[in-house]
Parts: sequence; structure tokens; C-alpha cells
Amino acid sequence: MSEYKRPTSEAAFHQNFEQIKPLMNDTEAYYESSRCLFCYDAPCIKACPTGIDIPLFIRQINTGNLKGSAKTIYESNHFGNVCGKVCPTEVLCEGACVYNEQNVKPIEIGRLQSHSTTKAIQDNTKLFTSLPENGKKIAVIGAGPAGIAAACELRLFGYEVDIFEAKAQPSGLALHGTAPYKITNAEVLEEMQYLEAQFGFNTHYNKKINSAAEARELEEKYDAIFLGIGLGGTRSARIEGEDFENCEGATEFIETLKLAPLKAAVGKRVVVIGGGNTAMDAASESSRMGASEVTLLYRRAKEEMPAYEFELDLAKGVGVRAVFNVQPLAVLGDGKVEGIRSIRTESKDGKLSNIAGTEFDIACDMVIKATGQEKQRNFLDTLNVAYDNSGRIEVDEHFRCGKTKYFAAGDAVNGGAEVVNACAEAKKAAQGIHQFLS
Ligand SMILES: Cc1cc2nc3c(=O)[nH]c(=O)nc-3n(C[C@H](O)[C@H](O)[C@H](O)COP(=O)(O)OP(=O)(O)OC[C@H]3O[C@@H](n4cnc5c(N)ncnc54)[C@H](O)[C@@H]3O)c2cc1C
Ligand code: SF4
Repeated sequence: MSEYKRPTSEAAFHQNFEQIKPLMNDTEAYYESSRCLFCYDAPCIKACPTGIDIPLFIRQINTGNLKGSAKTIYESNHFGNVCGKVCPTEVLCEGACVYNEQNVKPIEIGRLQSHSTTKAIQDNTKLFTSLPENGKKIAVIGAGPAGIAAACELRLFGYEVDIFEAKAQPSGLALHGTAPYKITNAEVLEEMQYLEAQFGFNTHYNKKINSAAEARELEEKYDAIFLGIGLGGTRSARIEGEDFENCEGATEFIETLKLAPLKAAVGKRVVVIGGGNTAMDAASESSRMGASEVTLLYRRAKEEMPAYEFELDLAKGVGVRAVFNVQPLAVLGDGKVEGIRSIRTESKDGKLSNIAGTEFDIACDMVIKATGQEKQRNFLDTLNVAYDNSGRIEVDEHFRCGKTKYFAAGDAVNGGAEVVNACAEAKKAAQGIHQFLS
């Protein structure tokens, strides 16, 4: 049973979606940074996909050198602020912190990272100087974490960079997807403004690159093209009734919630299908939006669930009920969701099967499908860029797409991971472009 009331004002929305990793004040940051053991061969660095020198930036905070600490972070990760708040630190840097071995709370690395980078953003601290223009131009398709990280890195080498973004706002799923209790939209956009001012790339919004003609034009005009296009809309659940009113894809539901929270339609009794992190987010968010009953249905056992354990705990903490080994069969209703029919499943020798005669119905007025995101195969065909059987762009060790002038990174290449992975890969891809053009 949810404890939340449907928010009817911005203030009530922010109260329901209170930050789970709030900003530290200077005293808290000082004491927390004092706890760090500044380990030799620090495991926290190895666990960070962008390899931030974590003990160094923590020591810089501790000695009052906030500018230096922000530089240490941004040198490795152009999305230093967003990542401080949305990274699954529990399974990355903080999960690797040596304090865990002593059953002591690990250093709050994410919150320290946010402390230092927020100060740099608020003061518009100049940290980087790009090389003089080198006369070459790069087009970036997609202003998500991958596209923006690539643009920052390319500007450091002196390339002119034009980003083409389909949507009206930047930052991809960091803005349109991440849970509002992890980061506010304002924080995501402030980091983007900071990066734009710092690095000087050009972003063209509402500019979806769609056709072969547009692609050929970019190929002629630019020396290389970086693809940071991410993934597509929610994949079909392939069940009867999924086109009914109030049956929605999770990414679409979350995007509406993030852009117009007070207009987002949330049912009273919500069923979420899926066992990934997006399913956990959609369930938590429905509950915080005032749904009185939220049920998660996952077709396999709890141990097989792809979502992180802490994400499930977050959902359970706001009243979500999780049911495992259940396969949805059909959305029930007369053109509008009235319930969902499911069947129990079992795993034998790794094979999942339905248990005959165990069908049951749950009454609900909304179904959210968190069944994964489509790949952008049609667009890649238009570009003549190769992809594997599961639709992921094929790249070499420099993130180049075959022998073309295309390079790619982020979700479109890794199939869907985290913001920090997109940033780490995009930085390497930008270095690959520089090597290719040098
Ligand atoms: C609901 C949800 C919650 C998430 N929560 C977290 C989290 O808490 N922590 C975390 O680390 N990660 C989270 N992730 C994952 C993370 O957001 C992604 O891994 C990351 O944003 C990938 O970055 P990207 O740049 O590769 O793709 P995206 O962020 O998807 O950006 C791609 C951009 O390209 C644009 N684009 C696509 N095609 C075109 C085209 N043809 N022309 C022009 N522009 C185009 C899109 O509009 C978009 O802006 C979440 C994902 C989802 C779906
Ligand atoms: S592992 Fe923990 S204690 Fe050691 S350097 Fe990293 S954050 Fe500090």
C-alpha cells in the first residue's frame, strides 16, 4: 500500500520525489572525506568505468581544493555531476570500497563527487582550455551522455563540433529517463549548460537525422560522424491487449512524468511487467505518484532478475509488491485496461516454462511494460552502419564502425547500460576519431 498522495503542485511532487542522495554541506563533505584511507591501488578507481582518481579528488576536497577535485573528476568523466547522483555506486565505486570488508559504511563517493562538481557548475569554474581550432569538423548525432561526452573530448583536441538532437532538450535518458528522486531536471540541464560554455560545441535541437539524403550531406560536410543515438521506444510485450488505453511503455511513461509531472496519468492500481532497473523505476515512480497499489510481475525467479538488489529494495520501500515466476498472458478489458491475466512459471535446467492450470487475474487500471527498448535498426540501415544480431552497432577497438567515417558509443553499442558507461566509451571513441584524423 502506497503512503504517497497524488502530487497536485510542483512542491508536492518534489516532496514525493525527495532526493535519495542529497547534496552535502561543506562540513559534511569535510568529515566524510576525512574517513577515506587513500588506499594504495585503490579498488574504488578500478570499479569506476571512467577510472576517476577517487582518492585524489577526495583528498582535494579534504584539503579545501574544490576546484582541483572538480578537475580530477571532469578529466575522467565529462558527466561528473550527473554520474555522482545517478550512478549505481552501490555496485561500482562504493561497492568496492575497502570499508565494506570491515562491515563499515563505505565512503559516500557519489555524494562527494556531487559536492565538488556542483560547486564548479554553480561558480562556472573554468577547468579546461581547448586546443586552437584544427580546421576539421565533426558531426555528432544525439545529445545524450555519449554524444555530449564525445563532443567535449573532441573540442579539447580543437575540432569544431555540431551536435544534432531529435528532441527539444539535451542529455538523452539522463534527463528523460533517470528517476526524479536521484537527480532533478534542473541539475541535469545545469551541467549541460556548464559543459556547453566550457567546451563551446554547437547543439541543434529538434533536428532528427532521418533520411539517407541527410546522412550523405553530413558525410560530405564533416570529417567524421559520431553516433550517440541510444536505443528506441519500449519493445512490444507480445501479449493480447497491449494496445489498450492505459497500457503504456515504461520509457514513454517515465519521459512524460519527467517532462510534465503534474500531467502524467497514473492509475490507482498499477501492474508493471519486467525485472530490470527500468521496471523498478517505473514501479517506484507510480507509487510516489500516488497509485494505491503497485505490483511488479517478473517471469523468472528473484535471483535471475537483472535489476540491482538495491533498486528492488527502493521500490519495496515505497510499497511496491514484487511477484516472481509469473508470465503475463493478456491485458484484460474492453479497449481500456481492467486487469491482467498471468500464469505461474518454473525454471528447469535453465529453461523457463509455464505451469499448466495456474492462470490467475489481477484487477488493475494501468499496465506499464518495462520489456526493454527497441534497437534503431532502420536508421542504421539508412546509414549503412553494421549491427549484430541483437541490433547493437558493431565497432572496432577504437569505436569505429567498419571502414566508414562513423564512430559510435553508448547504449547503441553496449545494448543499454548506465550513463557512466556511455561517457567512458564516448571519450575513447573521440580519441579514436582523433587518431583516425591525425
Ligand atoms: C528509465 C531509465 C532509467 C535510467 N536510470 C539510470 C540511472 O539511474 N543511472 C544510470 O547511470 N543510467 C540510467 N539509465 C541508463 C542511461 O540513461 C543510459 O545508459 C544513457 O543515457 C545512455 O546514453 P546514450 O547517449 O548512449 O543514449 P541516450 O541517453 O538514449 O541518448 C541518445 C540521444 O540521441 C538522440 N537521437 C536518437 N536518434 C537520433 C537521430 N536519428 N537524430 C538525432 N538525435 C537522435 C535521442 O533523442 C537522445 O537524446 C536509465 C535508462 C532508462 C531507460
Ligand atoms: S577504497 Fe574507499 S577508503 Fe580506499 S581510497 Fe577508495 S574510497 Fe577511500
